[in-house]
Amino acid sequence: MAINAANNAANNDQALIDFTCALVRLPSVLGDENHVAEHVSREMRRLIFDHVEIDDVGNAVGVIRGLQEGPAILLDAHMDTVDVIPEDAWTRNPFGGELVGDRIYGRGSSDMKGALAAMVYAAAGLERSALAGSVIISASVGEESVEGAALRGVMERYEPDFVVIGEASGLDLVRAGRGRAEFTIETIGKPAHASNPEQGVNAVHRMAGVIGEIEKIPMLEDPFVGRGVMCLTDIVSVPYPAHSVVPSGCRATYERRLLPGEVRETMEAQLLEACARADAPDTVVRLATTDYRTYTGRRWNEPKWFSPWEVPESHALVQRGLRGLRGAGLDPRLVSYQFCTNGAHSAGVAGVPTIGFGPSTEQHAHVVDEFLEVDQLLSARDGYAGIISTLLDGAAS
Ligand SMILES: [Zn+2]
Repeated sequence: MAINAANNAANNDQALIDFTCALVRLPSVLGDENHVAEHVSREMRRLIFDHVEIDDVGNAVGVIRGLQEGPAILLDAHMDTVDVIPEDAWTRNPFGGELVGDRIYGRGSSDMKGALAAMVYAAAGLERSALAGSVIISASVGEESVEGAALRGVMERYEPDFVVIGEASGLDLVRAGRGRAEFTIETIGKPAHASNPEQGVNAVHRMAGVIGEIEKIPMLEDPFVGRGVMCLTDIVSVPYPAHSVVPSGCRATYERRLLPGEVRETMEAQLLEACARADAPDTVVRLATTDYRTYTGRRWNEPKWFSPWEVPESHALVQRGLRGLRGAGLDPRLVSYQFCTNGAHSAGVAGVPTIGFGPSTEQHAHVVDEFLEVDQLLSARDGYAGIISTLLDGAAS
């Protein structure tokens, strides 16, 4: 197929809907993204992307080069989804990819195979002679476990000037995102027979004191990004189960949602001070670590710290992004992501200007009977095309 024919094929609404349904029909629960990666790369080749690869961690990456020189823009959508639990609560086949009325049903339709399909079609549908620069589409792995890790290698290889995260934004433009961190707290006690508990030190009682103090840590509120969160997510005593013994250890996990400006040292210091106030000597506070294996066998062992990020409203990327979306007939507001995304790496760590834009809303992610409205899908494609053509406007340079 010639490039012109590929442009035409990509500008066909029904073809985009069919591609989205096909992606939903390929299960890609976290760690099993291979079939989607193969299908996406096949479609990119069919639509005459200039370069297509499946990289070492399993991302499917495609590049379209404009006929003129210019910046590189990276659009990212993760292929992995959360699991389908409880499956019997679904009234639709989670992997049916059914189009019912104006909705595409299935796991990953909103989070975020629709966005992935829309960006592939948006990039392929543009006239290359009008593009000054290149478009990189990253269909990435592992986001539901380790935000940003998959994107790191793509960014090192392609060195984009701008990044667009395709997570659901309700077709609004995102210029900030909350970060995420996971801390473990371990209290130490002294074992004793449960018939004489006064001879020991109960590590669970110590943890109860620590929890009480942690609950008192004030959470900040950011007028744009929302509120910081500290959430106790699990707790286990040692030994477990205990048979007539005063527990000598207790471990609790806290998940923290982070606001722009919140840094690791301060977060750790807050927890240590809470432990000190609780009079729980020898308590250990640690940033948790991941141990994740991609379907290609690559391992990610790293701290669970996913940075918050913010790009000022006056930044050229935000302003040009707004212009591109308005040019596509949309009416975007400026908003922030409440959930953590791959922007934690692109903006939060790599410091590359990043915005978010995608179909559907955060409330449609991870739910039973997940669906995506076809209108949102088609508007997202137009929005991506608008952003790309505004950023790579050959006529303006
Ligand atoms: Zn997502």
